[in-house]
Amino acid sequence: MTTKAFVIGHPIAHSRSPLIHGTWLAEHKIDGTYEAIDVAPADLPAFFERLRSGEFAGGNVTIPHKEAVFALCDEVDPLARTIGAVNTLVARDGKVFGTNTDYLGFFGNLDAEAPGWSDGPNDAIVIGAGGAARAILVALRRRNGGKVHVLNRTLANAQALVEVIDGPFEAHGFEDFAALAGHTGLVVNTSSIGMHGTRFDWLDMSLLPKNSLVTDIVYTPLVTPLLEDAAAHGLQTVDGLGMLLHQAAPGFSAWFGVEPKVTPELRARVEATLGH
Ligand code: NAP
Repeated sequence: MTTKAFVIGHPIAHSRSPLIHGTWLAEHKIDGTYEAIDVAPADLPAFFERLRSGEFAGGNVTIPHKEAVFALCDEVDPLARTIGAVNTLVARDGKVFGTNTDYLGFFGNLDAEAPGWSDGPNDAIVIGAGGAARAILVALRRRNGGKVHVLNRTLANAQALVEVIDGPFEAHGFEDFAALAGHTGLVVNTSSIGMHGTRFDWLDMSLLPKNSLVTDIVYTPLVTPLLEDAAAHGLQTVDGLGMLLHQAAPGFSAWFGVEPKVTPELRARVEATLGH
């Protein structure tokens, strides 16, 4: 029987998930499908009934449903609760289990592109305090030995974030960058700065130690001004596309029973859709 999976969102046309999962299905010659389904918020409960009926093995959840599905799942992984968003659903025996794989995508990307990135106890700077920052803090809590400084335009949002997520985290405004930079090994941008070429005018790369790693989870454009600037200062950089690819893998293995690989071919196929 054909195994079916999906990504639901509203709208959903922009999603690159069908390309990622479609590539893996073809590569592994699996009798399966992965389709993008536009589900309006009011239709979510009815969609969950289809899921419970066994029509699908599971699927991904994107904007605007990542929070709303909490109430509809039979069980939600505690980490997804901490992150405050579900991006992956698995249906089994008439029940729906919700989880979040974004933090795994973040690890997967850095492990592949910057092996050893979490070996030493590094202090880190995380820029941004929105939904994505929550997943990154959960990731860093697991793998980064040092302190994590969360810098945000609105200090109150950074303060709220470090109160919700337990860990060695401190909230700051952007103006603290200069004082913190000298003992930072990792800079992660999780804010939307960088999309469409917007840049940080306060971030002086020359203050970072020469062995620092700078990564951006924004991937449109692929090389954000932050990464461009870091590379120009001789710092190691990792772009955000790998996070998108690696976060997809755990769902694929849960639905189709095969652990897929993030290959250069897959990356090139998705990169070709970014329009740069
Ligand atoms: P969000 O919840 O809306 O948070 C946006 C963050 O950006 C907030 O911290 C906000 O600061 C800050 N910000 C927005 N405009 C700003 C500006 N002009 N100047 C300074 N700060 C600004 O968004 P999100 O869901 O966290 O997503 C953030 C980015 O991550 C998006 O570009 C998204 O595409 C990307 N992302 C990538 C992946 C991946 O797989 N690579 C996964 C998830 C998200 P305030 O608190 O001050 O408003």
